[in-house]
Amino acid sequence: MVRRTREAMAELESSLGEPVGFRKVGSVRVATSEQRASELDTMNGWLAQSGVAVRGIDAAEARSLVPWLDASGARRIAYVEDDGYVDAYQFASAYARAARALGVRFRARTGVEGLVVANGRVTGVRTAAGDIQAGAVVDAAGAWGIVLAEGAGHALGTAPVRSHYWITATQTDWPREHPIVYLPDARAYARPEVGGLLLGVQEPQSRTYDARGLPADIADFPLTDPDDDFTVLADNAPALRPYIPDLDRLPLAHHITGLSTYTPDGRFLIGRAGPHEGFFVAGGCCGTGVSASGGIGEALASVVLGEAPRSTSPISARIASGGSTRTARRSASAARPRAPASCGGASARARAAGCPRPPRRRRRRAGRRTAPSGRSPRGSPRR
Ligand SMILES: Cc1cc2nc3c(=O)[nH]c(=O)nc-3n(C[C@H](O)[C@H](O)[C@H](O)COP(=O)(O)OP(=O)(O)OC[C@H]3O[C@@H](n4cnc5c(N)ncnc54)[C@H](O)[C@@H]3O)c2cc1C
Repeated sequence: MVRRTREAMAELESSLGEPVGFRKVGSVRVATSEQRASELDTMNGWLAQSGVAVRGIDAAEARSLVPWLDASGARRIAYVEDDGYVDAYQFASAYARAARALGVRFRARTGVEGLVVANGRVTGVRTAAGDIQAGAVVDAAGAWGIVLAEGAGHALGTAPVRSHYWITATQTDWPREHPIVYLPDARAYARPEVGGLLLGVQEPQSRTYDARGLPADIADFPLTDPDDDFTVLADNAPALRPYIPDLDRLPLAHHITGLSTYTPDGRFLIGRAGPHEGFFVAGGCCGTGVSASGGIGEALASVVLGEAPRSTSPISARIASGGSTRTARRSASAARPRAPASCGGASARARAAGCPRPPRRRRRRAGRRTAPSGRSPRGSPRR
């Protein structure tokens, strides 16, 4: 699916005549434990089978590629030269421009409030500006899509999970571009970002939310507790320091939190859903919805058009031409291990609100400071 995204990038650049914001910097994946080394071997096998060039490198070569990285404790290090990262905003805008050129019309700031169901078929959507009729309705509303699908009698087997990353101020003594670094033993990844370093860290116990309690706009939704900007990073610091000896001196400037939807088995949800004809979903992207967007879009289009998906790996996606509500309900509850009190359960207000308006990723300036040798001091400036 990721390879299909790369193909889509090339197609978009050729049809639009402008770049989509992809930077081919390569990637370095470091496995320290036996388990991660074995997973890396498996992954390298898949990559090689798919024609992606991957080679093992040693810690010295890793350091020559990424000057801040100490991989001396690694059992295995893999380098993929063809890998890279994309500016998600620029890329999504390119998709939108290409879609417009094909005749797609966008209704900005028009939230879907419900589905129109008639004779066992979803025939359109309800909005404040009136109903919109459609031969097929695709629910790709991210975390909010869970509530939307419930309106079609389908419990999506996915749940919103809090995700984080931090960005440092510009690091003039580092190269502006270097490979993305994946550190699975530390549940972390890092890549260059506008002259600084972006550091993504997964929580050992991810915070999971009940979608029915989410507000329409999460800009002011308490995804982090007060004074909590650095807690997750500080908790992960012992695992990160061996790889990033300068961790405690990084001039952290931004903390970004947002919601991604995850499934219990890590596979996407794509296809027909629920008891009614004409209703489809594309979701549960498990934190990789940008990377896999080309493959997801293509697989979804195939199912909607009644064609066989081109080449979708069963590893990454569960593609359905029909949906079982009961099965989905079971996996939905498995994907929601815990809902914090702050978004507690199915409030009548949230239900009445139906499907909310577009979410916004929260971007917070954490102030220029170094971390994470300890927890965030109280009263640090925030906006
Ligand atoms: C901190 C963080 C870091 C991430 N890093 C990466 C990464 O490095 N690589 C990667 O591939 N992915 C990453 N992701 C995940 C990626 O952002 C998601 O997988 C992807 O955005 C999912 O796309 P989606 O379309 O399913 O949902 P969303 O991106 O949430 O989009 C849903 C859309 O539906 C709209 N919508 C919602 N409700 C309604 C309604 N009622 N009516 C009309 N419209 C509605 C919203 O406006 C929005 O445009 C990250 C996510 C987070 C939070």
